[in-house]
Amino acid sequence: MNVNGKVALVTGSTSGIGLGIAEELAKKGCKIALNGLVKDNEGEELKQRFKTEYGVDTIFSAADLTDQNAIAQMVEETEAQLGPIDILVNNAGIQHTSPLEAFPAEKWEAMIAIMLSAPFYAMQKVMPKMRERGWGRVVNIASVHGLVASVNKAAYVAAKHGVTGLSKVAALEYAGSGVTCNYICPGWVDTPLVKSQYTAIADNEGVSVDEAKTKLVSAKQPSGTFTSPNQLGEVVLFLCSDAAGNMTGSQFTVDGGWTAQ
Ligand code: NAD
Repeated sequence: MNVNGKVALVTGSTSGIGLGIAEELAKKGCKIALNGLVKDNEGEELKQRFKTEYGVDTIFSAADLTDQNAIAQMVEETEAQLGPIDILVNNAGIQHTSPLEAFPAEKWEAMIAIMLSAPFYAMQKVMPKMRERGWGRVVNIASVHGLVASVNKAAYVAAKHGVTGLSKVAALEYAGSGVTCNYICPGWVDTPLVKSQYTAIADNEGVSVDEAKTKLVSAKQPSGTFTSPNQLGEVVLFLCSDAAGNMTGSQFTVDGGWTAQ
């Protein structure tokens, strides 16, 4: 499958994994709708970089995914400015760690909204039109925490288990339509989302940031190394290929052996 000229909406694509995915899609000629919460003019600057570096039409939406009206507006803006959405990557996410009994209610609400409800609202808006056109790819960025749990991550693990279930339901409802829905379960990826976790180790244990990174990754991930955002972008490209045309409702684990143990 040549994705050249396809329209891709990637949520949370101003940083980390979403940015790596948007870059890989843009390199292959996809028109890109970027989204994320940024300071000042960063969204517009990123949009310009995509246009210059990859030569593809690009828009930026500052939609806050805790707001379902903003999600609807982002989809409408993308369709109006780039054309019908062919590829939807639900990626945006946040992290907060705390024991269950002390988990702040507002963090629970925000995490479920961004990582479970937002994919639902975006899929509800985008997938019927994909079906009308007979082709579409939905890729949800779950996590190993959609498969297994860790302490102090109640909301994250609940949201990620939720999005794996949501992906499977969508896959069944759209099976045979030309529209697939799959989910990727990364282990550790070095992005701003995990930075606070290794800086906490460095601070608490008086080790360097590099030592703290190795300690964090190695505790769960036998490979001992992080996956890169762009490697995950290449997995998304594969899921958009003809080779993956009959893969739907499937889990793509990229976790350096974490869940093989
Ligand atoms: P990141 O912090 O680098 O990027 C998160 C992105 O989401 C940013 O673009 C941010 O602006 C956006 N975002 C956050 N809240 C938003 C909101 N309310 N509205 C719109 N956009 C919002 O994080 P990342 O590590 O790249 O994480 C991306 C996804 O990958 C998340 O769903 C995360 O759970 C998942 N993931 C990350 C790892 C990892 O180790 N980093 C592992 C497995 C899964």
